[in-house]
Amino acid sequence: MSEHEISGLGMTSQRARQRLLARLQEEGIANWDVLGALHDVPRHLFIDEALAHRAYEDTALPIGLGQTISQPYIVARMSELLLGGRPLKRVLEIGTGSGYQTAVLAQIAEEVYTVERIKALQEQARQRHRRLDLKNIHYRYGDGWQGWAEHAPYDGIIVTAAPDSVPPALLEQLAVGGRLITPVGRELGAQELRCITRNDDGFDARTVEQVRFVPLVPGTTE
Ligand code: SAH
Repeated sequence: MSEHEISGLGMTSQRARQRLLARLQEEGIANWDVLGALHDVPRHLFIDEALAHRAYEDTALPIGLGQTISQPYIVARMSELLLGGRPLKRVLEIGTGSGYQTAVLAQIAEEVYTVERIKALQEQARQRHRRLDLKNIHYRYGDGWQGWAEHAPYDGIIVTAAPDSVPPALLEQLAVGGRLITPVGRELGAQELRCITRNDDGFDARTVEQVRFVPLVPGTTE
C-alpha cells in the first residue's frame, strides 16, 4: 500500500477510521492482523465518490448493479473466522464486488483467488487493487457456485453473497483443516453465517450469527 494513499486522506477521515477501529474492537473483533488490515485498506477508494464521506461508517453501502459493499464489522468478523489463528496461504473469495474484502484478505493471506459474475464490477475492483499496488490477487470471471477448482485446495473460502444452501463444489475445494465462511439462506432477515471446518473424516459446521447479504445468483452476466 503506498504512502500516498494513506497520506492522501484528510484528517477527518483519518479520525473516522480510528473511530471505526475502536468500534470494531468494542463489537468483539480482537485479531490484530484483521484490525491492522482494516486500518490499512482505504475503504473510501472502494465506493463512489458521492458516498465516500460515509466510507468509515459501520454500514453496507450500494456499489451499483444492485450490489453492496459489505459492512466493515462483517468483513472483519468473516476475516477473523477465516484466519482462526493460523497462517493462510491460499484463500478463495466468492463475490469480488467492490474488491474491498478482497483487499483486506490480500493483507492476511499469501494468495487470494476471487470470483465475480458481473464483469463491470470485476474490472473496477481490479483497477482499484492495481492503484493500491496489491499483487497477490487472482481474478476469475465466472459462477462462484463452481468455486475455482484449478487452484484448490484452499486453506480458507469466504462467500460474500448468500446461497440457499452450501455449494458442494466449495466443500470439495476446501483443504483438510481449512474453513469455509458463508452466509446461508435466501430470505433477507433469515440468513445465518456458517463457519464450516473440514477435518479428516468430514465437516464440522457451526452457526455464528444472523446476517444480511445479497443473494448468490447462479450463472454469469456481462
Ligand atoms: N465482498 C464484496 C461483496 C459484494 S456483494 C464487497 O465487500 O464489496 C456480493 C457480490 O457477489 C456481488 O458483486 C455479486 O455480483 C457477486 N455474486 C453473486 N452471485 C455470484 C456468483 N454466482 N458467482 C460470483 N459472484 C457472485
